[in-house]
Amino acid sequence: MNDENLMFPGDNLSTEEEFVSSRNTFIDNGNIRASIIGRTIIENGSIMVEGISREIKSFYRGMYVLGEITDDLHTIVFVKIDNFKKDKDVYISFKSGKIIMKSHAPSPRHQRDRDFEGNKMENKPFGVGDIILARITFDDKDVYTLDCGSIDLGVVYSKCALCDALLTLNDDKTSLHCSNCEIDVGKKISSMYNNSVAVEEFLYKNNR
Ligand SMILES: [Zn+2]
Repeated sequence: MNDENLMFPGDNLSTEEEFVSSRNTFIDNGNIRASIIGRTIIENGSIMVEGISREIKSFYRGMYVLGEITDDLHTIVFVKIDNFKKDKDVYISFKSGKIIMKSHAPSPRHQRDRDFEGNKMENKPFGVGDIILARITFDDKDVYTLDCGSIDLGVVYSKCALCDALLTLNDDKTSLHCSNCEIDVGKKISSMYNNSVAVEEFLYKNNR
């Protein structure tokens, strides 16, 4: 079985123009999406999902997760948590994550004045669109509280806010660089930045 092709409920399979929606799929705004966990099958112009047996589990306190920063409210950022598979188990997140920011950046006005003009962007630990590795510290009723405090945790993948290019890690390991825009961006960076193999191994090893 090829895990790379595993689809989760809501995952986008194709558009209605490409294929005819068939078993275990639904149509959402012209897109065909999976309604169950399984593999995609294409047959005679139809697309369907064949279910596989997996045990569905919930994320737990202490678990490490990957997620994308979706909203930045300054004192709190919100995170869409990725589903996680390990052996026969599938962890599905039905809640968002949040990170409570410990302190405000000093003189944000001064920092903002330099955006787009100077060569230094506003230094914030996380930005919308960043992919982060985090640990669940609390499992609340409708949100997971996440923490990125340790050296392993933080941003693992980040794109330039100006030109969308992947940022590269500077030698100092504490800031990122866009070679198109010639800017440096300070963030809370994981020691596994842009190393998806290390991140996957870390998640597999540290999650039960
Ligand atoms: Zn750029």
